[in-house]
Amino acid sequence: MEPRLAGKVALVTGGGRGIGRAISKALAAAGAHVVVTARTQGQIGAVAKEIADAGGAAAAMAMDLADESSVRPVFAAVRERFGRLDVLVNNAGIGLYGLVKDVPLEDLDRMVGVNLRGTFLCCQEAMRIMAPQKSGYIINISSVVGFKGYPKQAGYTATKHAVMGLTKSLAVEAQEHGIRTSAILPGGVDTAMVRDARPDLDPAILLQPEDVAQAVLYLLSLSDRAAVDEIYIRRRTSQPF
Ligand code: NAP
Repeated sequence: MEPRLAGKVALVTGGGRGIGRAISKALAAAGAHVVVTARTQGQIGAVAKEIADAGGAAAAMAMDLADESSVRPVFAAVRERFGRLDVLVNNAGIGLYGLVKDVPLEDLDRMVGVNLRGTFLCCQEAMRIMAPQKSGYIINISSVVGFKGYPKQAGYTATKHAVMGLTKSLAVEAQEHGIRTSAILPGGVDTAMVRDARPDLDPAILLQPEDVAQAVLYLLSLSDRAAVDEIYIRRRTSQPF
């Protein structure tokens, strides 16, 4: 079931910690050369070093998804250095919470800027590399709130619904170029994001970042005949369906 990614190049956004760190390590363990990106150089450098220490290949490239002039050069560097991009995992995201009546619009703008605009921008850059090579896989990390709605999370929820809309349209456009596109919608995962947002939740009942990384590997292990549009992974103690 393990995908064989030797010779493949993968870029992970938000790869410095949490779910993105687990995905970066899993892709490298499967043989990919992984470009680990986020804003915090210390964290992406540490993940790249962990990968190298385990015998894998990785490069850390800092970028801020909210800033187009920081993102485009990273994709240009990937094109220049590797001449290809096989996997893009749009994982980076931020959550700022509060009741609709209270949330500052600046918080909404920040979430839209990273979760939607930043993800869109990376899809655009990846398509420009993948379409000519007629192959590639774009995986967008959405959330359970990509289809459900929870109180105090309206802005975050709206951006994750938007990521689903982006993924659905992109999937149709990408398919004609031989590029596959999927969304992964996790429930609560034990990361800094959840510890900040939901300190009331017992980490023991949460998913681990590696559970999401495993879903990424599963998608990449599929035969060329198969396409999976979305994977919803919930923690086992939550409500089924
Ligand atoms: P996390 O631990 O807070 O990590 C978020 C990552 O995104 C960090 O590496 C962060 O690095 C990066 N990031 C944030 N703002 C950025 C920006 N402007 N430009 C570039 N990178 C940026 O969060 P996580 O829990 O692993 O979440 C990862 C993804 O999974 C998010 O999209 C989140 O919405 C989604 N998700 C999480 C859960 C959960 O329960 N944890 C559930 C469903 C979906 P820097 O701050 O250094 O830039």
